[in-house]
Amino acid sequence: MTGFAFEPNPTPMSVNERSGLLADPGFGRIFTDHMATIRYSADKGWHDAKITARGPLTVDPATAVLHYAQEIFEGLKAYALDDGGIAMFRADANAARFRKSAQRMAMAELPDELFVESCKQLVLTDRDWIPNVDGGALYLRPFMIASEVFLGVKPAAEYLYCVLASSVGAYWKGGARAVSLWVSHDYTRAAPGGTGEAKCGGNYATSLVAQQDAIARGHDQVVFLDAVERRWIEELGGMNIFFVMADGSLVTPPLGGTILPGITRASLIQLARDEGLTVREERYAIEQWRADAESGALVESFACGTAAVVTPIGRVAGPGYDFTIGSGGTGQTTARLLARLSDLQRGRAPDPHGWLQRIA
Ligand SMILES: *Cc1c(COP(=O)(O)O)cnc(C)c1O
Repeated sequence: MTGFAFEPNPTPMSVNERSGLLADPGFGRIFTDHMATIRYSADKGWHDAKITARGPLTVDPATAVLHYAQEIFEGLKAYALDDGGIAMFRADANAARFRKSAQRMAMAELPDELFVESCKQLVLTDRDWIPNVDGGALYLRPFMIASEVFLGVKPAAEYLYCVLASSVGAYWKGGARAVSLWVSHDYTRAAPGGTGEAKCGGNYATSLVAQQDAIARGHDQVVFLDAVERRWIEELGGMNIFFVMADGSLVTPPLGGTILPGITRASLIQLARDEGLTVREERYAIEQWRADAESGALVESFACGTAAVVTPIGRVAGPGYDFTIGSGGTGQTTARLLARLSDLQRGRAPDPHGWLQRIA
């Protein structure tokens, strides 16, 4: 397969209308003029790569994804740099994770070069959509669906890969606010042997009722325990979690099948170690979290992911318990790691690991 065909949007949004939207983009509601698509079929392989006007996908009602949920996705950001350039953050890591998710869901594997190139071409096409506001970026959403029209239960023989770009501002307006978590003892997110480490829509579908429960109880987010013993903390619905101890060390639950291997998680482990901090990937139980928060052995906790980067956790509750983390606000280590990573992503701090890929 060669390059991407370019079919420009014949009716792009006017500059005026776009500037109006980009002044206050929020998160995930503004989409750019174009999208990238590539098709796969068992006989042709990957083909028909193009950048076209963003618009509805027409699917037959018997399309496999609508019935058996063969779907995976990614999330990554492209940033405007102070010198006018543009960079994507660790797109190669997203490409590799997308392939692993495809393997788990018995889908065709998109070569990493095509993944990265599709993101790059879309960003370059819609570069004027990067908001010029603090925390502004293009949030890229690559995803893939089983597009074969067939009701039999088997891995599809046809797939549609698509990338959307959404103009986003800082996830938390006015700086990160500490969130309150509800620990779900009723629902689990992922079981050993299941799909917890694949980035598939199905994992989100199962998390929604737990998230809804957390909100109904007055909290911001749900945090899940392991499915076997129901005591080891795993992650939030869409973010990984870290614990900061009074001795300055960090703990984060180990990967191993039921936890999504976050790229923000991996980056923060590396940055913390670069600073000389000890980071242990080990299991941490809910009763230990509570005891350590109450004794002062634990001083901070935070969640992390591409969208919000780092989110401080101020309060944790479950059936019959409710405890505060540190002062209930943003801890020092949390704030420092957030600043360190977001400065790196914007090209304002050294990038010793070569995570920023400059594309313009
Ligand atoms: C995407 C995701 C994360 C965060 O991963 P990043 O690569 O850091 O954005 C964490 N948990 C779940 C369930 C996810 O889907």
